[in-house]
Amino acid sequence: MSDRDAMFAAAEQLGSALARQPLGLIIDGKSVPALSGKSFATVNPATGLELAQVAEGGVADVDAAVQAARKALGNPAWRDMSAVDRSKLLNRLADLIERDADELALLECMDNGKPATLTKAVEIEGSIKTFRYFAGWPTKFGGETLPVSPRSGAKILNYTVREPVGVCALIVPWNYPMSMAAWKVAPALAAGCTVILKPAEQTPLTALRLAELALEAGVPPGVFNVITGFGEAGAALVDHPGVDKVAFTGSTEVGKAIVRGSTGNLKKVSLELGGKSPQIVLPDADLDAAAASIAAGIFFNQGQTCTAGSRLYAHASIHDDLIARIADHAARLTIGNGLDPTVNFGPLVSQEQWDRVSSYVEIGKAEGAEVLIGGGRPKALGEGFFFEPTIMANAGRDMRIVREEIFGPVLSALSWNDPEDLVAQANDSDFGLSAGIWTNDLRQAHRLAGAVKAGTVWINCFNLVDNATPFGGFKQSGWGREHGRQAMELYSEIKSIWVNLS
Ligand code: NAD
Repeated sequence: MSDRDAMFAAAEQLGSALARQPLGLIIDGKSVPALSGKSFATVNPATGLELAQVAEGGVADVDAAVQAARKALGNPAWRDMSAVDRSKLLNRLADLIERDADELALLECMDNGKPATLTKAVEIEGSIKTFRYFAGWPTKFGGETLPVSPRSGAKILNYTVREPVGVCALIVPWNYPMSMAAWKVAPALAAGCTVILKPAEQTPLTALRLAELALEAGVPPGVFNVITGFGEAGAALVDHPGVDKVAFTGSTEVGKAIVRGSTGNLKKVSLELGGKSPQIVLPDADLDAAAASIAAGIFFNQGQTCTAGSRLYAHASIHDDLIARIADHAARLTIGNGLDPTVNFGPLVSQEQWDRVSSYVEIGKAEGAEVLIGGGRPKALGEGFFFEPTIMANAGRDMRIVREEIFGPVLSALSWNDPEDLVAQANDSDFGLSAGIWTNDLRQAHRLAGAVKAGTVWINCFNLVDNATPFGGFKQSGWGREHGRQAMELYSEIKSIWVNLS
């Protein structure tokens, strides 16, 4: 049997298992139906067909999950677990993800549309790394003793300790379902919190598997709960007085609603939101390297990436040459059902997303931009939500395709001449998640890296992400930073303790 046939056979088997009965919520260590009895369909984007029925969590289910998570917070088996044991537990979970990597990649491919081979290499491997990285923190994350100077001259010992922030609602989007969950669950558990994960309604399947694996690894019941469902379930978590923190990745619009909704008990809130990242190319850049990376930066994951380099600022002298090279990379992508190991460009996640991306192409055309390549449905690909890699040339700084996040495989290309205006244009955005700079001039590279308002700047590379280095946005791209020590800080409270030794 060829690799391709083996993948389709495995998918068929998994599909029949999923179709057997509705998948439950995970509350207090058990899989349970929604109290309303309601469920909803999750759809395979490559075929447009239903994949599984999933419990539709509502306000009462959220309440049950919060109660379970609050109870688990005080469970001595979790609360008093030693740092070494917490570390072992997270490593055990990483081992189990590694054991089931093929199945998880398949599940994500069928639920989201992304190519299975790439999913395994990038998202599943990345999630394993995330759990291993945060497994290292419990044994290293502590407070300090601080040299205070009391006015009275009393002899004082002052020290700080870190405590878990409490019950955390982790609300994630559909574009990297497993990674986005791992980025939040791993540091939250490392810090000793309990969690309620709310996956996106389009892609609930890997979140449920992740929680099952966590239980298998030995996470006590109630520490890791999952509420599947729609925005209302997310809003109920944000509103709940028993939730201490909300960590959200998703659209800027919903991020703002979460800030408004969390004021009841002034929850701690961290937000990873949208982006419209500039790719800045100077005339001396290595155009081969730039073209390959710029193409990957906008077409990987079908452009459904928060850091997608969706605004290209190419110097006028190399603009046409560079665009031709990017188009050449786009033409070499293999579009199709992500179960096929040769495919590296799958469908968009849903019909709704297809309509959104398509409407932006129409808006761009009406605004005067030119569709250089792509712009619609590729031929002969059946019922899936496929959209071609697209380049919109002659884009202008005030066009909506340059200002708004499309969240699809659409590159808006602009050319520049004046270096001062270039920085102004790159920063003329509500977003500030990331930026790419392409040049061999060290002075220019560092000058631009300093001038660009973005949480991450890549020089002669793009979309590199690592658990060791902070990730997050300036401006309306978010609040707070994930990864590194910063993530541990997001899930803990610091307490200052004064001891009078006089
Ligand atoms: P979305 O904001 O529509 O939904 C995200 C999650 O929020 C889903 O689980 C959804 O059910 C839930 N939700 C919806 N309404 C809610 C409400 N009122 N209260 C609480 N929860 C609610 O986003 P999406 O369409 O799933 O994902 C795409 C967006 O995510 C893009 O804007 C993208 O840039 C962003 N994103 C950002 C990052 C980052 O790290 N900055 C990473 C990935 C995706």
